[in-house]
Amino acid sequence: MKHVTVVGAGLVGSLWSIYLAQRGYRVEVFERRADPRKTGIAEGRSINLALSDRGWAALEKVGMADAVRQSAIPMYRRVMHAVDGALSFQPYGKENQAIYSVSRGGLNRLLVEAAEAHPQVTVHFGHRCVDADVEQGRATFESAEGTQDSNGEALFATDGAFSQVRAKMQRRDRFNYEQEYIDHGYKELHIPPGADGRHQLEREALHIWPRGQHMLIALPNPDGSFTCTLFFPMEGAESFEALQTVEAARAFFAAQFRDALDLMPDFEAQWAANPVASLVIIRCSPWNVGGKTVLFGDASHAIVPFYGQGMNSGFEDCRVFDAVLEAHGDDFEHAFAEFAQKRKPDADAIAELAMRNFVEMRDLTAQPEFLLQKKIEARFSALHPGQWMPLYSQVTFSHIPYAEALAAGKRQDALMAQILARPNIAENWESEEVMAEMRRLLEATRA
Ligand SMILES: Cc1cc2nc3c(=O)[nH]c(=O)nc-3n(C[C@H](O)[C@H](O)[C@H](O)COP(=O)(O)OP(=O)(O)OC[C@H]3O[C@@H](n4cnc5c(N)ncnc54)[C@H](O)[C@@H]3O)c2cc1C
Repeated sequence: MKHVTVVGAGLVGSLWSIYLAQRGYRVEVFERRADPRKTGIAEGRSINLALSDRGWAALEKVGMADAVRQSAIPMYRRVMHAVDGALSFQPYGKENQAIYSVSRGGLNRLLVEAAEAHPQVTVHFGHRCVDADVEQGRATFESAEGTQDSNGEALFATDGAFSQVRAKMQRRDRFNYEQEYIDHGYKELHIPPGADGRHQLEREALHIWPRGQHMLIALPNPDGSFTCTLFFPMEGAESFEALQTVEAARAFFAAQFRDALDLMPDFEAQWAANPVASLVIIRCSPWNVGGKTVLFGDASHAIVPFYGQGMNSGFEDCRVFDAVLEAHGDDFEHAFAEFAQKRKPDADAIAELAMRNFVEMRDLTAQPEFLLQKKIEARFSALHPGQWMPLYSQVTFSHIPYAEALAAGKRQDALMAQILARPNIAENWESEEVMAEMRRLLEATRA
């Protein structure tokens, strides 16, 4: 039985350990954090994530989807909150298509426990990777008991955006590495359940308060609460830095997000207690050192969260990697290289798509022209299924490689710009004439 090492039991590492166990490997997983079950430390504030089709497919492959589904809340549409409290709506996909709000801590715990349930998987909590010999596929871990070397024959590094294993790879010749902090950071806030214990906003929706250069979003939790995230510039006239006091923060919220503020009775305490965190994009290559070490998940491609695809893309890494191992009869040398080459363009594409979606969410969702474009696309795609899949659906509700989705999205944007430039389009967008013009333009792009 092959014996391998996984660094990091986060979302991707814990799922990957299940894949490896099901392939028949003996797996040792080393995780820096303490075992939450033994320390008695509660999982803290409820932080949630949007899980979509790529993530579901990867969970399904190892039989984990049903367990995750138990506490996942479908979000069928975006609900946009204007400054005056007026609401507008945009479905995410076709009827019954949804993205799902899941608890980050709950999901991670479920996956770790499922991994540990395999007799050939051992998870060592409280073990921090401090060194790695990436040519040999070995790593060194520090714990309360001292220092320990791994003795598996390969290293799967899923130790997140600030990967220690990647830091060692950076010292190798011809390793490319790029780290970019965007201008915005974020702060999480909480809307508690109402007096009746129920959600105080529409439950099965993702709420957005788009305000141009910044935005607030809220995703539902099973306990009747919402987790909100304010994405806001770190510095500048309107920024976290400028909101020096809780009074200033309250005044800002009262002006920008009145309806959300009214649902946060302890706003001041939350604002003071919850940290501001930064957002980083990581690109690197190559992801592997022969058949000995390979990076994936955030360790090789951390992205901004605006497409809700960071975890989903990391989960998809697992499904793709598993298929590549299968195709190569578990020959690591060939499989690691093929996986890394195959996935890198897709990782670059989703990084770009995620930044584009930030502009869409914080700014465009507030613009009538954007909503009109979405309606035209939805109508055309309903009339001609198979001919036009909106970019959002390609990314969120399909398994089309991200790089192909990005390229198709760029072609669609160019075409839609011509449609939106037509006279009186706001009035006649449903007309046969407009649909015929779309067909003509689409055929021309294919010719
Ligand atoms: C605000 C925000 C919102 C997001 N929303 C979404 C969303 O809606 N949908 C989505 O798909 N994605 C979302 N993401 C992205 C998602 O969180 C990440 O892509 C995902 O967590 C990556 O999983 P990972 O396992 O690769 O890394 P991580 O989750 O970071 O896990 C890495 C693990 O490695 C451990 N570790 C680190 N260093 C060491 C070491 N030296 N030794 C041992 N262990 C170590 C860590 O403790 C951790 O457990 C969001 C991200 C942010 C910041």
